[in-house]
Amino acid sequence: MKVQTFTVGKLFTNCYIVACPQTREAIIIDPGFETITEAAEIFRYIDGEALKLKFIINTHGHPDHICGNGFVKEKFKAPILIHEGDANMLGTFAAKFFGFKNSPPADILLKDGDTISFGSLNLKVMHTPGHSPGSISLLGEKEVFTGDTLFAGSIGRTDLPQGSKKEMKNSLKKLTSLPDFFKVYPGHGPPTTIGEEKTNNPFLNWNWEMPQDV
Ligand SMILES: [Zn+2]
Ligand SMILES: [Zn+2]
Repeated sequence: MKVQTFTVGKLFTNCYIVACPQTREAIIIDPGFETITEAAEIFRYIDGEALKLKFIINTHGHPDHICGNGFVKEKFKAPILIHEGDANMLGTFAAKFFGFKNSPPADILLKDGDTISFGSLNLKVMHTPGHSPGSISLLGEKEVFTGDTLFAGSIGRTDLPQGSKKEMKNSLKKLTSLPDFFKVYPGHGPPTTIGEEKTNNPFLNWNWEMPQDV
């Protein structure tokens, strides 16, 4: 599995291109770019590596993760995948907030346990709500893309509309039950590992009070 990270947009969202080196089939996770200049850099990478982009996947429906969906769909004709719990954030939601570019509606709705296959690779959908109702993490064999659920040294906020502190806690339990060696690719900030977060992330101590009350 080859993972290329691009940090894009005004909220420094991590956009990942994940590719199968044998078949060159690839997916894009969270195209959060807002300008054609940022899009062009990523498209050059995709074309330069001769990748065949199969899916556009959103870890959740917040505008900073979906605002480039339209650019990518237009260029590569790939379908947009998002968990059914956040699907209503595409189409109308994004444009209303902070002036982000809107996304076309979803083409395929995801649910917990679904498998996304490209080339010889599989990513399993793990529903990890709390930051938003339809937040997902994408599980490979030794890596997990956590969106805005788990960050290096922090966790996603739960005080946004439809956030839930209780669900976040359950989702973090699911993530921390993964093996320590799992590499974590978060929605913002640097990569980490499950083991590192279990040891050093102050929000993963179950006695703690979360900073935001919901
Ligand atoms: Zn978010
Ligand atoms: Zn975000």
